[in-house]
Amino acid sequence: MEIKITKTTAPGVMPPENELGFGKVFTDHMLLVDWTEKEGWKDARIQPFGNISLHPASTVLHYGAEIFEGLKAYRRADGGVQLFRPMENIRRMNNSAERMSLPQMDEKDMLELLTTFVKLEEKWVPKSFGTSLYLRPFLFGNDESLGVHAVKNATFMLIASPSGSYYAEGINPVSIMIESEDVRTVRGGTGYAKCGGNYAASTRAGERAAKKGYSQVLWLDGVERKYIEEVGAMNVMFKINGKIVTPLLTGSILPGITRKSCIEVLKSLGYTVEERLLSLEELVDTLECGTLEEAWGCGTAAVVSPIGKLAYGDKEYVVGGGKIGEVTQRLYDILTGIQWGKEEDPFGWVYPL
Ligand SMILES: *Cc1c(COP(=O)(O)O)cnc(C)c1O
Repeated sequence: MEIKITKTTAPGVMPPENELGFGKVFTDHMLLVDWTEKEGWKDARIQPFGNISLHPASTVLHYGAEIFEGLKAYRRADGGVQLFRPMENIRRMNNSAERMSLPQMDEKDMLELLTTFVKLEEKWVPKSFGTSLYLRPFLFGNDESLGVHAVKNATFMLIASPSGSYYAEGINPVSIMIESEDVRTVRGGTGYAKCGGNYAASTRAGERAAKKGYSQVLWLDGVERKYIEEVGAMNVMFKINGKIVTPLLTGSILPGITRKSCIEVLKSLGYTVEERLLSLEELVDTLECGTLEEAWGCGTAAVVSPIGKLAYGDKEYVVGGGKIGEVTQRLYDILTGIQWGKEEDPFGWVYPL
């Protein structure tokens, strides 16, 4: 794929790494590729970062035809830059596109777009452990008409944001509320796709939980409201009686790359990992009788996020003494070790640039 590059004449300066936060600072450039039903992908270009202009009838503004991905470029101790399992994000983006009737892109082309862009923005990959350059590819339908159908025009974009350490203040376990009113998605819906609409529909529950003093909600399935699905916008894992249990990917759960990596690491360490339906009733039972040893969320942003408290109705349960558990800590150390290039990568997951 030919990529036309127009460099900025006003390059920005990286703020101090401890002031980056998440998703607030952007790099000098952005990448765009247009798609039309007739011509396919065309006009790949990198240009100075800035506002884009859309027709007021653009599909994305009315019918939510939008998907995205999130991955990071990591600075190794030796100064090099690497990605973590980028093909997994690329394949998932195409799966999301298929669900939302948006165009898919050749995997190698998408990888080339990512690597070309990150190489150009290399100076924006921060250096301290825990910091990264967050990459946000996204794709939206862009027909200039109000008719409802699969789009004939779409735009793929890539922007990047140098981001601070998720755990600048140390890994503190979070308090989570089991959500019994709103649901995130349903089977047959868009749960397995990383689409903006899923986020729009799940914000309300998160806000309500925050008002009650909880960081996020634990979602139940939308059909029977019986089975555990995810925590906020992360996958969820439990250590019950020595075994690891994580919800089965039934179609309403986002297939996380961190989830997949945790499962592979845990199996390599000799743990039994069960991907299965886990009912709320069973979970409450483990809380009542004390067999729930650890619980954590997992996703690219946090890697792992230990759960210290779970609330259901008017009952509140402390998990693992409210501290990070041994398995959670081990997963964090192994995954971040590989991602930031501090440890060897026996799995072949890193992709050096
Ligand atoms: C992105 C996302 C995850 C985590 O996926 P990773 O690939 O591990 O970052 C989990 N749940 C939801 C709803 C997500 O959007």
